[in-house]
Amino acid sequence: MMLDRSFLHWPFLEERHRALVERLETWVAQHCEHVDHRDVDAACRELVHRLGRDGWLKHSAPGDDPSEKIDVRTLALIRETLARHSGLADFAFAMQGLGAGPISLFGTAAQKAHWLPKTRSGAAIAAFALSEPASGSDVANISTTARRDRDAYVLDGEKTWISNGGIADLYVVFARTGEAPGAKGLSAFIVRGDNPGLSVAERIETIAPHPLARLAFKNCRVDAADLIGANGDGFKIAMTTLDVFRTSVGAAALGFARRALAETLRRAKSRELFGAPLSELQMVQGHIADMAIEIDAMALLVYRAAWAKDAGAPRVTREAAMAKLYATEAAQRVIDAAVQIHGGDGVRAGHPVETLYREIRALRIYEGASDVQKIVIARSVLSSAAGR
Ligand SMILES: Cc1cc2nc3c(=O)[nH]c(=O)nc-3n(C[C@H](O)[C@H](O)[C@H](O)COP(=O)(O)OP(=O)(O)OC[C@H]3O[C@@H](n4cnc5c(N)ncnc54)[C@H](O)[C@@H]3O)c2cc1C
Repeated sequence: MMLDRSFLHWPFLEERHRALVERLETWVAQHCEHVDHRDVDAACRELVHRLGRDGWLKHSAPGDDPSEKIDVRTLALIRETLARHSGLADFAFAMQGLGAGPISLFGTAAQKAHWLPKTRSGAAIAAFALSEPASGSDVANISTTARRDRDAYVLDGEKTWISNGGIADLYVVFARTGEAPGAKGLSAFIVRGDNPGLSVAERIETIAPHPLARLAFKNCRVDAADLIGANGDGFKIAMTTLDVFRTSVGAAALGFARRALAETLRRAKSRELFGAPLSELQMVQGHIADMAIEIDAMALLVYRAAWAKDAGAPRVTREAAMAKLYATEAAQRVIDAAVQIHGGDGVRAGHPVETLYREIRALRIYEGASDVQKIVIARSVLSSAAGR
């Protein structure tokens, strides 16, 4: 693959990051290209198993040792590299991190000791259940309830668009406990995949197949010890977890865009048109220049946000929102140009750029749609200019 690796020497990254990418490249070539994607549930289980067996999932969430902390640059590099080869491998890795994130950031010692070794070894598949049919962007409007009943909580309601829905062993579920109206009345719970009160109400098929489901919670009893953090902390737990992982969505988009450029370079150099390679047409060169600039700009925003968090910034809301927004939108443009330069082959089912064209789309919607990221960025910019 024709790849520019010079970004690995940018000041945001360290020697350990370069070494990790080298090892991951070798691993991906051996273990990712040969997964049968026709059954996404089985493919996803297999990828989680392989990623866990070979130690990659350890980077998705810190363990129960308090000295361990998440390295967002490592998360981003792993997602970028996996996404370049397989959208499903990136999805499998990312969901182990997002699903385990609330436990690793806010869980009790007992919750961490029970779940993190399992999510980090691939023995348990994780899911993050926040969205509902009537509250996607409007998270504070969640209507799933959790009612205290002696030493248990009883959950009732619906969650939708849940990645790994139906195959997960661990669901972190956000529900209304009612301490206060809106965002302040939510709490987070651990629900085991085999809980009899949890069922799959609908499997959701999308343009890029991943395991996705709408889930029903009916009289779903969980132990009081399965509450994460305190009652009323649910919104903070969800947003803090997303703050860590949002940058890595930008990294996945960057991986898709790098693959699109690599495919385009191969095609433009090998395809003869009007007696010369396609790469000699200046309008094609114009596309290639735009693609290269956008990829560098994405990478700068993604690794700036990751580095800022790793360097100890208390909040990286603005940086992460910029990275996610810009990288996902620009990757869509880069991939669209790749499809154009491939001509008919660009829309042939199963061609790598056709697959990328479908894979990229949802990233502009989930974990905060692009429009929502703009609001977050504008509020931050306005508040830092307040009083001037
Ligand atoms: C592939 C995929 C995987 C997902 N995985 C998960 C998961 O694992 N767990 C989970 O909890 N959820 C998951 N989601 C859900 C996802 O987070 C929601 O789809 C997303 O938050 C948008 O919510 P919605 O679909 O209800 O759209 P809506 O909230 O109805 O928003 C629709 C559109 O309105 C616009 N909009 C929204 N708010 C504003 C605003 N304030 N100002 C201007 N415009 C606005 C945006 O363009 C947005 O796309 C997933 C979604 C997809 C597509």
